[in-house]
Amino acid sequence: MTTPETPGAPGDPAAGGGGGPAEAPPEPRQLPELIRTKRDGGRLTEADIGGFVRAVVDRSAQDAQIGAMLMAIRLQGMDLEETSALTQALAKSGQQLEWPEAWHQQLVDKHSTGGVGDKVSLVLAPALAACGCKVPMISGRGLGHTGGTLDKLESIPGFSVLQSPEQMQALLEGVGCCIVGQSEQLVPADGILYAARDVTATVDSLPLITASILSKKAVEGLSALVVDVKFGEAAVFPSQEQARELARALVGVGAGLGLRVAAALTAMDNPLGRNVGHTLEVEEALLCLDGLGPPDLRDLVTRLGTVERIRALALARVLHELGAGRSRAGQPLRHGVGAELLVTVGQRLRRGTPWLRVHLDQPALGGPQRRALQGALVLSGREPFVAPSPFAELVLPPPAAH
Ligand code: URA
Repeated sequence: MTTPETPGAPGDPAAGGGGGPAEAPPEPRQLPELIRTKRDGGRLTEADIGGFVRAVVDRSAQDAQIGAMLMAIRLQGMDLEETSALTQALAKSGQQLEWPEAWHQQLVDKHSTGGVGDKVSLVLAPALAACGCKVPMISGRGLGHTGGTLDKLESIPGFSVLQSPEQMQALLEGVGCCIVGQSEQLVPADGILYAARDVTATVDSLPLITASILSKKAVEGLSALVVDVKFGEAAVFPSQEQARELARALVGVGAGLGLRVAAALTAMDNPLGRNVGHTLEVEEALLCLDGLGPPDLRDLVTRLGTVERIRALALARVLHELGAGRSRAGQPLRHGVGAELLVTVGQRLRRGTPWLRVHLDQPALGGPQRRALQGALVLSGREPFVAPSPFAELVLPPPAAH
């Protein structure tokens, strides 16, 4: 037996129509047409950009087509909306990383637009981890004449830059930071375009750099990001004006994606530090972590760390546990327990600067208490600032009736 179908009357919502024949979604445009549009200075829609990125990842785009599209973008540019659409399409080509809620204010990262002898990430990631931050860094290989963090790390025998999201979480739990590469799970589209740009003279493109950097960072689920935008003879963009334009694009597109980005413009005329080359740079980074190493490298590393926030609740919970508060009615308090803040919000902090003095009655802080306190200090890459007044609003009684 069959159930008779009731044909919907025109205008009947049950028929799925809206009063007329439903409009079919537009056919996705073919790659040659997309390339021609951009080559001739036209705009690509979000759907066009999504279609191109999908074709890159599913390998239906030929290498020649990828190269042609990259060159068209390099020559014609993209507006901020296109750049943002490209960033999101790259980010969505793989998995979004998710972290325990307790880490949400601690997730920070730094990325460089590329330089010579630039091993800052190798030093900064563990330094931030030592300050209680979580650094889930997705980095890149060498681009053009600039060196790549992943290539440097691979000069360590046995080092693997391919880590799954689960392995990244285990590393963040254990040591607070990890540096990994793009993979089939993580921003695969950026991995493919990145390698193609390196050999097609399309590295120095503002929208391509912006989308490449921010797509990796959007996937990381960060609280704050600082980008080291290089300018000078050995940078991707030699002029400071171009670098500033790139910095503005990174901050602006980042804000549109809900990413808090600060960009530091730094000169790249002289090699950074004294060693250039993969193994040599890793050795220099290790020296720097031991408190040695060249002053220019130490300066760049220690400059990137402003006190953004001190989480009062996290601090108060530890003090409560140490005896400043009661967990049972009538429990006697330890009145001497307390903490002195040695820094203020907005202040620039150098590595190793003490920021808190805890007064306690017991011999030492426990490991979890120490970690909770480290998590209370939220650092960012912002310029030093004056902490805003805590005053928010005044609520007054209604005017008295006469
Ligand atoms: N770093 C990246 O990840 N991408 C670029 O395009 C440049 C630097």
